Amino acid sequence: SRVKRMSNCIFCKIIQGTIPSFKIYENELTYAFMDIQPLSMGHILVIPKTHAQFFHEVPDENLQDLLPVAKKIASVFHKKGAYNILQNNGRLANQAVDHVHFHIIPKNSEEDGLG
Ligand code: 5GP
Ligand code: ZN
Repeated sequence: SRVKRMSNCIFCKIIQGTIPSFKIYENELTYAFMDIQPLSMGHILVIPKTHAQFFHEVPDENLQDLLPVAKKIASVFHKKGAYNILQNNGRLANQAVDHVHFHIIPKNSEEDGLG
């Protein structure tokens, strides 16, 4: 398979379905789902199905599949307002989950406090 799994990784478990998630999109190489503690309403995580801890470790094939998925979600958020894309690598950079993930965070003017 083109997808490598890490047995103790929560996002690998989400991909497999052994931990539940609110799935937004899935194909052979990429998975997108709702963040469980959203920074704003609609906060989505996009991840490569193959396990890698850091951005610089993700195989090109997986990044090339993932980016258009992130772009599609971003274009939907843009139609409704604005958005941030965030991607943390390493504890010093606030990475809590050691499976690469892109945060796509909508900014909605109607939202309280966060906007
Ligand atoms: P990091 O700080 O590593 O960039 O972000 C990790 C993100 O994963 C956080 O926004 C957190 O809310 C989210 N997260 C952690 N565990 C789970 C989970 O089990 N399910 C979902 N849907 N999101 C999670
Ligand atoms: Zn993983």
